[in-house]
Amino acid sequence: MTAYEFKCKDIGMKCGFEVKGASSRDEVTQLAAVHAKLTHGMQSIPPDVAQKVSSSIRG
Ligand SMILES: [Zn+2]
Repeated sequence: MTAYEFKCKDIGMKCGFEVKGASSRDEVTQLAAVHAKLTHGMQSIPPDVAQKVSSSIRG
């Protein structure tokens, strides 16, 4: 089974947030969205950021 990973710093944030062991890209995206809202104050994810997140997911 593939585990997907994402690091907030990979999209240029000075932030130690990481997703590890997610079971799907959707799960990573969802966790990142919640994190962005709570930690970075983004009420919604702008398309360019969503694009960066998507291309930074490793799995
Ligand atoms: Zn972050």
